[in-house]
Amino acid sequence: MDHHYDIAIIGMGCAGSHVVQELLRHKTTLKVVVIDDFKAKSLEKTWSYWEKGTGRWDHLISHSWEKGTFIMPTDLIPLDLNPYVYKTIESHDFIAFAKAELQKHPNFSIIEEKVKSVSGDEIRTVHCDSTDITTNLVLDSRIDPAFFTDTKATSLQQHFKGWVIKTEQPAFDPEEFVMMDYRLIDAGTTNFTYVLPFSTTEALVEFTYFAKEIVSEETYEKYLKKYIKDLLQIESYTIEKTEQGIIPMTTYRFDQHHEKNLFKIGTAGGWVKPSTGYSFKMSEKKAAQLVNNILNHQVLHHQMNSKKFRFYDDIMLDVLHSDNGRGSKVFHTLYKKNNIKKIFSFLDEETVFKEELEIMLPMTSYAFIKSFFKQLF
Ligand SMILES: Cc1cc2nc3c(=O)[nH]c(=O)nc-3n(C[C@H](O)[C@H](O)[C@H](O)COP(=O)(O)OP(=O)(O)OC[C@H]3O[C@@H](n4cnc5c(N)ncnc54)[C@H](O)[C@@H]3O)c2cc1C
Repeated sequence: MDHHYDIAIIGMGCAGSHVVQELLRHKTTLKVVVIDDFKAKSLEKTWSYWEKGTGRWDHLISHSWEKGTFIMPTDLIPLDLNPYVYKTIESHDFIAFAKAELQKHPNFSIIEEKVKSVSGDEIRTVHCDSTDITTNLVLDSRIDPAFFTDTKATSLQQHFKGWVIKTEQPAFDPEEFVMMDYRLIDAGTTNFTYVLPFSTTEALVEFTYFAKEIVSEETYEKYLKKYIKDLLQIESYTIEKTEQGIIPMTTYRFDQHHEKNLFKIGTAGGWVKPSTGYSFKMSEKKAAQLVNNILNHQVLHHQMNSKKFRFYDDIMLDVLHSDNGRGSKVFHTLYKKNNIKKIFSFLDEETVFKEELEIMLPMTSYAFIKSFFKQLF
């Protein structure tokens, strides 16, 4: 039974690494194996998230900000985040840390291979490229192929291209990041620029869409160049790094793919916040709940999802989906009428109904009411 494990985690990206850290935090004696070929792009992302004050991963973060801005052509909203801090962590550093930690524990092991399939029922067999293992429980970050052909869910793609640029002269305020800048837009869809300044001469500038279709490389580059030249007024710079990706923003019910002794995690388990595309912090929370459920012999989906917040996410997605050009107006109202602390708390799914009403009432428009009733029935 050398190749039998209590838990097999497929994928050590954002979700898999959080689950590993959480199992380690509980000093589990369960026999755990992590399977990943470590070839995915997940090793090279810049993950941003917010949290109050100091946090568990502060020794790994590459930068943090206490102030931000939300920008419209005719409005600039300063965002005083205190007590929240917006933080950035390199995915490579986070995953490498989790990997190094697990290697200190003899009950944890890693198989550096791709999983081809999972079979069995009570005891699961995981078939990798050249190894087969058996396990009592699979935690699986592979997205079910049915998601990509589904036509019933409301889905947008958060897609973006960003450049880390370096200038010779000081051009950025490293104390303040730009959450969303709508001064330069590709009309008809929701899109904005996001800026993370790392120093006075270095920043990540990202052109981002929340849209149905992706765009060509030339389109991203046209807007990036224009933003840097016209709005940042930078003539001369070098591109140090490129970041590009697609994150699903969807009402798709990923939890339909849980099976007996196989539980989907990460994007594959619906751990990405549908209305924002953020998942780092959400994955930390979900991993904590899941590990708690495992160790306490609870059903695995116990307290994993909030129906109420799914409902809000579904409304927001429906509004953006049915009139994709409205995004700047929707987000402007959100940031204008609410302070950022309340918005963060709402997105973290930590608000109570009274606060949710305060956030949503000013956003109420015909589109919101229509989506509200569409989601209700
Ligand atoms: C460029 C970019 C920037 C982003 N920035 C942010 C951000 O700022 N903040 C934020 O919260 N989110 C961000 N995201 C989203 C975030 O990266 C994802 O939501 C998150 O990584 C999803 O976690 P996951 O574990 O499901 O998938 P991943 O992190 O992609 O990990 C999946 C892992 O599974 C492995 N795997 C897949 N198939 C197999 C198989 N068959 N066998 C073995 N292993 C397998 C892969 O190798 C990979 O390591 C960003 C995404 C991108 C693309």
